[in-house]
Amino acid sequence: MLIVQKFGGTSVGDLERIQNVANRVVETKKAGNNVVVVVSAMSGETNKLVAYAEHFSKNPSRGEMDMLLSSGERVTASLLAIALCEMGYDAVSMSGRRAGIVTDNIHTKARIEEIDPAAMNKAIKEGKIVVVAGFQGVSQDGNVTTLGRGGSDLSAVAIAGALRADLCEIYTDVSGIFTTDPRIEPKAKKLNKISYEEMLELASLGAKVLQNRSVELAKKLNVNLVTRTSFSNEEGTLITKEENIMEKPLVSGIALDKNQARISLMGVKDRPGIASDIFNKLAEAEVNIDMIIQNIGQDGTANIDFTVAVGDLFDAKAVVDLFVESGDIREESYDENICKVSIVGVGMKSHTGVAAKAFATMAAENININMISTSEIKVSMVIAEKYAELAVRSLHSAYELDK
Ligand code: ASP
Ligand code: MG
Repeated sequence: MLIVQKFGGTSVGDLERIQNVANRVVETKKAGNNVVVVVSAMSGETNKLVAYAEHFSKNPSRGEMDMLLSSGERVTASLLAIALCEMGYDAVSMSGRRAGIVTDNIHTKARIEEIDPAAMNKAIKEGKIVVVAGFQGVSQDGNVTTLGRGGSDLSAVAIAGALRADLCEIYTDVSGIFTTDPRIEPKAKKLNKISYEEMLELASLGAKVLQNRSVELAKKLNVNLVTRTSFSNEEGTLITKEENIMEKPLVSGIALDKNQARISLMGVKDRPGIASDIFNKLAEAEVNIDMIIQNIGQDGTANIDFTVAVGDLFDAKAVVDLFVESGDIREESYDENICKVSIVGVGMKSHTGVAAKAFATMAAENININMISTSEIKVSMVIAEKYAELAVRSLHSAYELDK
């Protein structure tokens, strides 16, 4: 097999851990696989470099930041290659450029445009272990670029896609994806497999483990992703195509998003185009809308409720204020003390009663549901934030995720 192994900052946090990574890579190689390793900077290193730059300037050029920040990953890559050679294995480290990772020229948040895997393939053919510095590439005009913070996951997935690797393993300090946040529900179980779609919906569970952009790319390139810990041999969670999951659980996990606020618009003039006006203005202000509910009000008006990320609330208010001033909206109100609880599972597609069970569970706990939205594989409910943990735990047991 050809396996891409990506090690995050904590996994390469000090020299001893880099040695542990080298040992693991050697085991994988000894088992008869070809290995391409992608590494992050040692933990804290990128932040340290950012702080160095800020010592000289509040607003350093983004091109210089890329030169600076990309060095962190190159340090780890070369140290790991040196450790591997010392163990008697033929290893070679490569910068993003050498690995053929071509990006656009948006410094500090470049997108990968293509990968020319020739150099990596040649080295693999020669039996070498290839170690690539993550998080970086080169623009068409030859400048070093970086892919945005946390971008080395993206490097790994893109490389796995370009090399048609059998597996892309992402090593972090957590052992995989759980049915819910174990800090809320200690009975949460690690999932063996989960589909790309479910993983994207469970972002609030996986965000600390995997960047959403990487999951989206893995889905697009059809890369089998595994997240696992580098601190033990415990197996992780496979993120793959739905077709590869034989036994489809009704519900795979419960996600919680506390970073939500509700905006209520009362007495909205009921005329064609009003919703379009309001939400266009919100879009222009780059406010991301999640759920929207419109109710019939009285006297030719309607009430519209919607949710935004807490961080967007200020911008959203500014937009809504304008409509209140012009008389198109009678009254506005806000509630930051809400949260969104979601149940996610591909099995929902072919079963009835999944949403009804969620509502019954909330009713049994006397939790009022403010808003509901559904998709093929998800039911989301907005409730008061003080019930967040209770809701997660009761849903977790209602769908027997602790079994
Ligand atoms: N070192 C970079 C960062 O800290 C990239 C990464 O670790 O994925 O953002
Ligand atoms: Mg990282």
